[in-house]
Amino acid sequence: MYPTDSSMPPPPYPVPQHEAQSSVIFVQNPIVGPKSTRLICPNCRADVFTRTTESATAKAWMCSFLMFLTGLFCCSCIPLCMESFQKVDHHCPSCGAYVGSYHVD
Ligand SMILES: [Zn+2]
Repeated sequence: MYPTDSSMPPPPYPVPQHEAQSSVIFVQNPIVGPKSTRLICPNCRADVFTRTTESATAKAWMCSFLMFLTGLFCCSCIPLCMESFQKVDHHCPSCGAYVGSYHVD
């Protein structure tokens, strides 16, 4: 007979970090633009205007770093300011959930 010990905690299971790219699943992937967009939040179902935050893409940081390495110190900040290297992240103002990104390219 097996002892019915249900109070045992589950064994620690390491969450694979390198597979994060393929595990991003949206119930509803809203199309967002460069400006605040009205949509139904997929997380809290509220009818909201998204809160936008502009930031440089990973590509911009890569270009900047490469320019810095090749001696173009004064130009290395240019990719971070270029509009084509910017992305706009949209978040729900109600619950703060990430709802989508807009890329210029
Ligand atoms: Zn929300």
